[in-house]
Amino acid sequence: MSELFIPDRAVRYACAVLTDYRIGRLPVDPFQLAEDVGITLLPLSSIQDNPNWTPYNLPFALRMTRAVTLSYPTFCIAYRDEDSTPDQLRHVLCHELGHLFMNHYRDFPAYMGPGHPVDPALEAEADSFARNLLAPVPVVDVIRYNRPQQARASLFGLSRSAWLHRLDAIDTDRDSVDEDMANTILFMFKDYLLARHCSSCGHTYHDDIQNEKDICPFCGAEKPEWVL
Ligand SMILES: [Zn+2]
Ligand SMILES: [Zn+2]
Repeated sequence: MSELFIPDRAVRYACAVLTDYRIGRLPVDPFQLAEDVGITLLPLSSIQDNPNWTPYNLPFALRMTRAVTLSYPTFCIAYRDEDSTPDQLRHVLCHELGHLFMNHYRDFPAYMGPGHPVDPALEAEADSFARNLLAPVPVVDVIRYNRPQQARASLFGLSRSAWLHRLDAIDTDRDSVDEDMANTILFMFKDYLLARHCSSCGHTYHDDIQNEKDICPFCGAEKPEWVL
């Protein structure tokens, strides 16, 4: 096990990434994030027949897992596009991005990359990053409290098992979220969480003030729908 494992590091990194890349709606899109960071994502179908892409036996490496990060000549993530669901890919790509954001390749090269022995602590840390990026504790808490019927795997773009794992780990993860982090994340997601839609006039707006009469501020129609 790596000696530098810090329990709350993944939660803090996930929070920082949400803020730095101005992510404020669900489901979080790892393809957009990778593009913003400058990490190339390569579908296996595009490289399988390309003889220039043989630094590793990628199809073999990808038999064990849905995505593999290559560090040479530049960082890129190869992923199995043909037999993965969007939810599986979302999680596995965020896991790989977690290794990169948390500098696992730089700090623990002996455990990273195809063919290297796996360090369970680093893998757990990348999983923690993925779940705290895709389903940040404050966002999950607010939705479970205010819109319990919406607090489902599909809203976050998670598989059922990843969602159950998120709920299992939520109390532990919450210990790593201080008030400042929670407020920062909720500020990023404010427009998303408070969005309302008026079917009478077609306006979508965010209900910051929770106006007491519960009417559309544009046309006065009663009880506009909550988007979430
Ligand atoms: Zn991993
Ligand atoms: Zn209206």
